[in-house]
Amino acid sequence: MSDYVIEIPSVVGIPVAGTKALFPVRRIYCIGRNYAAHSVEMGHDPDRELPFFFQKNPNNLDSSGEFPYPPHSNDVHHETEMLVALKSGGTNVPVGSALELVYGYGLSLDMTRRDLQGEQKKMGRPWEIGKAFERSAPCGPVHPVSAVGHPNQGRVELRVNDEIRQEGDLNQMIWKVPEMISYLSNYFALAAGDVILSGTPAGVAAVAKGDVMAMSIEGLGRMEVKVV
Ligand code: MN
Repeated sequence: MSDYVIEIPSVVGIPVAGTKALFPVRRIYCIGRNYAAHSVEMGHDPDRELPFFFQKNPNNLDSSGEFPYPPHSNDVHHETEMLVALKSGGTNVPVGSALELVYGYGLSLDMTRRDLQGEQKKMGRPWEIGKAFERSAPCGPVHPVSAVGHPNQGRVELRVNDEIRQEGDLNQMIWKVPEMISYLSNYFALAAGDVILSGTPAGVAAVAKGDVMAMSIEGLGRMEVKVV
């Protein structure tokens, strides 16, 4: 066994519903523009695009129920997304067997410094500064497939201070969960512990300190996250 020259960084774990156990996270893949109405609101044509992905970091996940408003932005948006947690991986995974890789599903928010992301887009630069900042991925517990199956329809909703901001249905995803897994596995070696944020329905908008974001997906429960 090797010695490490500094203390080993901790493994990020997110809660598993109904147990005290944690799901350990290796990587986070996020799909862009996966609901047509959101793609249109961002100025794109959903019929003409292949899926594309960016990444957040495992330690951007946060199940504390609080989202600290990040520095260097005046336009921080919520994006309401179903989280998909993988228990195994592979490369070139066929669509037909892709769901066998899934451990479970949960709620997540792909919080975005939209102003910084917009500047990066204009300059043709990567999005990390707008997307992968500290605590940028509030999430709820993972619900194992054994408890919830593979949700492919059901209402997705986000209220801010009890006012509806985002609504949609899982069945409106352009690229379905097995297609996303298969597509990603053609470009990356997927592995146990990988997490996919599956895109947001329309209605993304800015939050302010003090706001309470209440997210729900039919069959996967509800979570509240306060902007502090
Ligand atoms: Mn997103």
